[in-house]
Amino acid sequence: MKRVCALLLTFVMMFPFSLFAESPDSLRGFSLTSSKTQRDWETKFRGIPQPNNMREYMRHLSARPHHVGSPYDKENAEWILAKFKEFGLDAHIETFDVLFPTPKVRLVEMLEPSKFTAKLDEPTIATDPTTNQKSEQLPTYNAYSIDGDVTGPLVFVNYGLPKDYEELERLGISVKGAIVIAKYGNSWRGIKPKVAAEHGAIGCLIYSEPKDDGYFEENVFPEGPMRNAQGVQRGSAMDFPSSNPGDPLTPGYGATPNGKRLDIKNAASITKIPVLPISYGDAQPLLAALKGPVAPESWRGALPITYHVGPGAAKVHLKVQSNWDLKPVNDVIAKIPGAVAPDEWIVRGNHHDAWVNGAEDPTSGQVALLEEARALGELLKQGWKPRRTIIYCAWDGEEPMLLGSTEWVETHADELRKHAAVYINTDGNGRGFLNLEGSHSLERVMNDVARDIQDPETGMTVWNRLHLAEIHEAKSAEDRAELRRRRDPRMGALGSGTDYTAFVDHLGIAGLNLGFEGETPQGIYHSIYDDFYWYTHFSDSEFVFGRALAQTVGTTVLRMADAEVLPFEFGNFADTVHKYNTELQKLLKDKQDQITEQNKQLEEGAYKAADDPRKPTVPPKHKDVPPYLNFAPLQNAADTLTRSADRYERAFAAAQSKVDNGTNATSINELNRQLIETERALTSDAGLPRRSWYKHLLYAPGVYTGYQPKTVPGVREGIEQDRYPEAEQEIVRVSKALSDEAAIIDKASSILESLK
Ligand SMILES: [Zn+2]
Repeated sequence: MKRVCALLLTFVMMFPFSLFAESPDSLRGFSLTSSKTQRDWETKFRGIPQPNNMREYMRHLSARPHHVGSPYDKENAEWILAKFKEFGLDAHIETFDVLFPTPKVRLVEMLEPSKFTAKLDEPTIATDPTTNQKSEQLPTYNAYSIDGDVTGPLVFVNYGLPKDYEELERLGISVKGAIVIAKYGNSWRGIKPKVAAEHGAIGCLIYSEPKDDGYFEENVFPEGPMRNAQGVQRGSAMDFPSSNPGDPLTPGYGATPNGKRLDIKNAASITKIPVLPISYGDAQPLLAALKGPVAPESWRGALPITYHVGPGAAKVHLKVQSNWDLKPVNDVIAKIPGAVAPDEWIVRGNHHDAWVNGAEDPTSGQVALLEEARALGELLKQGWKPRRTIIYCAWDGEEPMLLGSTEWVETHADELRKHAAVYINTDGNGRGFLNLEGSHSLERVMNDVARDIQDPETGMTVWNRLHLAEIHEAKSAEDRAELRRRRDPRMGALGSGTDYTAFVDHLGIAGLNLGFEGETPQGIYHSIYDDFYWYTHFSDSEFVFGRALAQTVGTTVLRMADAEVLPFEFGNFADTVHKYNTELQKLLKDKQDQITEQNKQLEEGAYKAADDPRKPTVPPKHKDVPPYLNFAPLQNAADTLTRSADRYERAFAAAQSKVDNGTNATSINELNRQLIETERALTSDAGLPRRSWYKHLLYAPGVYTGYQPKTVPGVREGIEQDRYPEAEQEIVRVSKALSDEAAIIDKASSILESLK
């Protein structure tokens, strides 16, 4: 009954906002007159970024390995600094000292039933000129793996997620005292050793399965873009979702040179068991030696073997040891002071460090950022003056786990809380469709920007192409209908895995993450083969999507920086909250139904009846059916939000002719102040349960997903992890934040209504 009501309400609430469509000439947040000037500046801006410049920047930045602490990482920071200055921007380097382990000992060997020692080495490729830079390449490893020397039987655990261990339990397999081997993918890689340790494993190997990013998909490098037999995905294994990203020794505050630091043994984000990544060339003999039950069908990959779960005769020795040194990270920061509202900041960033040469990750995004900065410099020379302050950031230390951006945010937390209106992030870029993720108060403005960018391949707008492709790919008639009727296609929520995390999750700054993707299959992620040769042969070889990214992000920066009224919109936001509320109620209902059914089948003896005695399985344990939760506070808060958003939209439309009227300057300042506060209202000082660094109550990386967002995380993870009293408390806490948000939107509406 309650659920039906919720669905009906969502349905009714979805439409009112499209009634207030702005006229095609006017831009959201600008008066009619200033819309015209702004359009001229934006058009000029979009004409400036040049693919050839981006190609040359990439050639330079990816010429040598440039991981944290390496000589070329420092050189790149200085090169970017010089570029910013050459473009006419005021720039400097800000340095932090962070814990960054690098490998000292790496060993994987099979002792029984036969001897095999893993190569743990990516071979040079003659046609690819940077793969031979052996002395500067970081060996293949997982950063922040604890040191360890362990020997045990091997067990294959699929992707190594909690539900995989449930399945293992049904097969009667325990990983206690074992070394697990997991496939890369479907979660942040640090989740795999974490869940393995929770189940009693003593070590963890992660391999790249050819079905996921190897020959199953396309030809392997250098003939094609996919991972070859010895290609390895490096990467951080830090358990940041349950503690914090950034330097493990300075959680919550900046890693400044003389700041206090935790003892390494007290650093919560370092793994509990040793972990090492391997290629499928190295994984195949290990997997082939496994006995025990045949792996469930969905677990099997594309290697020419029968995938068994184990254990069996396979006994493996894993040894990992790192140098646990502090290393400098060099963030390059450039500023363009605002002419009218210098205390309102638009922050834009992309990292510059890589695991090795990193042409795709991160240089393909960094070169777009550089062309934007050059274009802004050009506009300044032509007389453009941004209303707000613009800050461009080239982050260091993103790969180990958002070190440069997190330490910068923690160091400047007070100023950023006061001044930052929005943070716009990019990372690697490729061919395909614009991927939009962000705070939902920005969903409208991002859809508007995408309507002004031309797709390099079809000539239609980026928005149109995305919209039609989404209709084409939609999974249900209902989804297609929503896409056709909704003014703005939905924007994804922010999870983590790149530099917006501290801005959004720790401080509550409205954030965006943008990039083109979907047409470049790739299997070179975090390997020595992610280099200029690969990128210019298999990805955006003409750099036209690089230009499209610079145009998209630059237009967003200009619009956010110049609008008289920050172009936030709350109708889409309120609609998204309604959607989350519906999802959460369904999540609980589905879980109640599933457990009820499972209990019934246990009582009936259905598991026993269906079992093949030659392949016996263990029936699941009886579980208590989850209790009903009171979603009324969330429902009420969402309705209040919808009403406030509706009022704001009316006031906003009525005030458009008054926003550039000088007599209203003080009120407009106060209005923007309130708008900046809206995202802050969604945070709580106490943070999320058991992970207080994460303050945002609507968006967070999942404790068991990492990259993937959990929206309304306190409630959603409460239900998922059987913490029902906690979920109910979280409903109340989120509802309070949403009501506070509605009150701030109402204040903003009052200001708009009082303009002269
Ligand atoms: Zn990256």
